Amino acid sequence: TRKPIMAGNWKMNVDHIEATGLVEKLHYTLVDKEWDPKKSDAVLCVPFTDLRTVKTLIDGDRLHFGLGAQNVSQHDNGAYTGEISTAMLSKLGVQYVIVGHSERREYYGETDEIINAKAKKVLAAGMTPIICVGEGLDIRKAGEHVEYTLNQVRGTLADLSAEQVAGLVIAYEPVWAIGTGEVATPDDAQEVCGAIRREVAALYDEPTAESVRIQYGGSVKSGNVAQIMSQPDIDGALVGGASLQPDEFAAIVRFYQ
Ligand code: 13P
Repeated sequence: TRKPIMAGNWKMNVDHIEATGLVEKLHYTLVDKEWDPKKSDAVLCVPFTDLRTVKTLIDGDRLHFGLGAQNVSQHDNGAYTGEISTAMLSKLGVQYVIVGHSERREYYGETDEIINAKAKKVLAAGMTPIICVGEGLDIRKAGEHVEYTLNQVRGTLADLSAEQVAGLVIAYEPVWAIGTGEVATPDDAQEVCGAIRREVAALYDEPTAESVRIQYGGSVKSGNVAQIMSQPDIDGALVGGASLQPDEFAAIVRFYQ
């Protein structure tokens, strides 16, 4: 049985001062309630400049949040001005790294090859990649969303071992549902998430497919999380806008508790 994973993606919001307030509010909302770490994982994927602050808060208050980044370089070190390496992240206590978010694909030209290279570096550094895939509206309208997304899965997982894939997270985020309030129906989300799991079984084996965790992302809120999570191949959510609201995100991360 897979352990569900609820992750917040703050995107380019919340400076490190504001992060203190946001995490403390989350803490107050959650702290007095029992939290069983065996039941589900909760992760905060924050801007690079917030990592140190959020790590200090997590450690100091013994919060049950994992620490995540939103991007990383595919290179180890060297003359890459403005980039951040996996070694830098792991030294700060980062456990998860989102790679290949649709916004990085769209605005920063990230291809499946680049995302695959980043995922390999994240794994080599002992962290867990959250690999994002998902189709845009034109592809959905053309009815090609499953094949398009599976192609991204094949490209981003290239050359990874079964053991590596078993431990990582794939986030299915249909681009047309991100930040739009337009949620995929539970059946739409399950269609693609189920196809992703079958593809992992075909590429690797059944145990690997049963182990890999698949999240849905796109306008997830406390009010729709239950419907989406009821689907058999959806193991959690990657949450954008609602992760900036402490009450909303607290309700979401508590879903499996
Ligand atoms: P929203 O939850 O704001 O739609 O964002 C989803 C997302 O892109 C998470 O990575």
